[in-house]
Amino acid sequence: MSARILYGKDFAAQIKESARREVEELKNKFGVTPGLAVIIVGENPASQIYVRNKNKACEELGIKSEAVAMPETTTKDELLKKIDDLNANPDIHGILVQLPLPDAIKAHSEEILNRIDPRKDVDGFHPVNVGKLVTGSPALVPCTPAGCIEMLDLAGIEIDGKRAVIIGRSNIVGKPMLHLLMARHATVTVCHSHTKNLPEITRQAEILVAAMGKPKFVTADMIKPGAVVIDVGINRIAPKKLVGDVDFDAAVEVAGAITPVPGGVGLLTVAMLMKNVVTATKLQIK
Ligand code: NDP
Repeated sequence: MSARILYGKDFAAQIKESARREVEELKNKFGVTPGLAVIIVGENPASQIYVRNKNKACEELGIKSEAVAMPETTTKDELLKKIDDLNANPDIHGILVQLPLPDAIKAHSEEILNRIDPRKDVDGFHPVNVGKLVTGSPALVPCTPAGCIEMLDLAGIEIDGKRAVIIGRSNIVGKPMLHLLMARHATVTVCHSHTKNLPEITRQAEILVAAMGKPKFVTADMIKPGAVVIDVGINRIAPKKLVGDVDFDAAVEVAGAITPVPGGVGLLTVAMLMKNVVTATKLQIK
């Protein structure tokens, strides 16, 4: 048996097309062009690629994008001042600060992210947005887990009543994924580095989400035959070689459906960011 491969580009294209239509509507109905500011501090090469991809997606969709490049030596106060300016700028509807921040200000990441106006917080990391997600009235939701749910819906994969297992409990992926799956009536277990008998738990999953950052950690024997496997992991194992958290070649023989890496969840993340910029713009028009 070979699994259905869930290619990110197919779903990302649909998400972006729906965002593009909404951008057009916002322009026609309200005369508003959604605007995204991406702040990048320092020279991290991976971050530079992500920022370029985000700008490219904005251009495709008719969203105005502003890359705010700040030097490695930027202080916390300078960065906070820049965020305040963007919060007050009516042409900017979405703000994100590309992580990781340089070592000198890394310790202040939380304070810096919390300075973003929650209505402009297109990463969905602000405590106000986290609270809304947890209490069941989501506004801006972290892009990667939101993209996974959107993909399941577009692929026609039922979530209601399913047994779901998430490996990883980060604020960016694991925790929001728990709330999104629970809100859709899955029965969810979250595993982490202290979990005992992990394979025993993952083998019960009808939907298995791997978000741990450990190359090819999830082996075929950890997967229930026919399960939907969503591989969020992005691990660089050689200069030009990316792999996920799942051993894809073996897993594809056991799973019912599976996302590849690269070419899976990563593409959904940028598409969902565009959708969040549209959502943020609507929140501000109201
Ligand atoms: P974090 O490092 O913040 O979290 C990793 C989680 O995995 C932690 O909760 C950790 O447990 C858990 N974990 C680590 N080792 C094990 C283990 N042996 N058994 C069980 N659980 C374990 O990572 P992120 O959530 O930020 O990212 C996870 C992966 O997803 C990374 O590869 C990252 O690159 C990728 N990613 C991909 C995105 C995309 O667009 N596709 C976007 C964001 C991330 P504990 O809490 O106990 O330490």
